Amino acid sequence: MSEGLDLIMRGARLTGRPGLWDIGVRSGKIAAIEAKLAGRAAREIDAAGLLAAPTYVNGHVHLDKCNLGDVMRPNRTNSFQECLEITWEHKRGYTVQDVVERASRAIVEGIQNGTTVYRVFADVDSIGGLRPLEGILALREKWKGTVDIQAVNFPQEAILRDPGTLGLMEEGMRMGADVVGGLPWHEHLDEDARRHIDLCFELAKKYDKDVHMLVDDTDNPNSRSLEYLAVKTMREGFRNRVSASHCGALAAYDEVHAQKVMGLVKEAGVSISSNPHISLVAQGRYDQEPIRRGVTRVKQLWRMGANVFSSQDDVNDPYYPFGRNDQQEVAAHVCHACHMTYPDEVEAAFGFVTVNAARALRLPDYGLETGCRADFNLLAAPTIQHVLRLQQPPRYVIRRGKVLAENQLKRELFIS
Ligand SMILES: [Zn+2]
Repeated sequence: MSEGLDLIMRGARLTGRPGLWDIGVRSGKIAAIEAKLAGRAAREIDAAGLLAAPTYVNGHVHLDKCNLGDVMRPNRTNSFQECLEITWEHKRGYTVQDVVERASRAIVEGIQNGTTVYRVFADVDSIGGLRPLEGILALREKWKGTVDIQAVNFPQEAILRDPGTLGLMEEGMRMGADVVGGLPWHEHLDEDARRHIDLCFELAKKYDKDVHMLVDDTDNPNSRSLEYLAVKTMREGFRNRVSASHCGALAAYDEVHAQKVMGLVKEAGVSISSNPHISLVAQGRYDQEPIRRGVTRVKQLWRMGANVFSSQDDVNDPYYPFGRNDQQEVAAHVCHACHMTYPDEVEAAFGFVTVNAARALRLPDYGLETGCRADFNLLAAPTIQHVLRLQQPPRYVIRRGKVLAENQLKRELFIS
């Protein structure tokens, strides 16, 4: 079984299997997982009892805007409106090269932090036209063979509010976008939000692509596009092909309505991306005390069996001055914001940035199992709890059996 292996990682811990295991890789796939693999491989790595796990998946990130924080002017009014205006100022002048350069810095950071798959949102609207998408498609090309990038055709200014956007989205699909984006809650009227969803599904059906929308990203309990999205998903035969990010309004619904909507989400197989570190700072801005968290019903959705995942969303941009493109940090934020600190809850949060995110993005052969793609990290601790407690970068980041990154932490202590 160990003949002709390209790589063996020896003595790794795995989730769900006690003991230490050798992982053998051949031709970019996991060829064997055994307690002791005989023979030698071209490259051998001593895992020293650390945890190996599939690489992280970042299923929602705006890399066209990322790192604008380094070049933008200050936000003088401390307002969300000015975040938008600062973004517009830059978006009008984006070049493909500029987008690729800023985004590539985030990709490098992400690789070092163990993420090899990115679903990247690119604004498509009357302000920047198709330039952000052109940039992200060039980014996808540049990084082909190193990481996996899905480009989302995303109407950041909504569709009916921003005439001309639908035509741009159609052109974006022809240019090669992988996923149809959407922002229905940002329309002025409920009927427009529904029309927005209908238009996105028309594109998705025409080009046979999956759908990922930012939904009800507000504390307003009257924002109710998630239920329509779920029903539309079922009516159009798109079960398990649709994701919805944020869904903060779900947390503001009364329990009776929330139960109905969550039931529809589960039935439709709509994956929910909660990015709670963003919701914590973006929502609750009108509240005095007590201030709401603005985070959707993560724990209830997870407990009822809906597919919940979690993503970085923003990196150093007008909306969020932080972000290291680090899915370990994201999972740790989930644990805090969503009250998930007991053992099964911490493990679930880790699943939000690995297996659940992979399910939402419909990644083939994802997982640390024989026959899967050899995309895995050797994490810097022996258990999920300690990985999220310490949040050190993975020791090794491996994709298709090739080492993409190796991180060492050097610490010296001079105390007596
Ligand atoms: Zn976002």
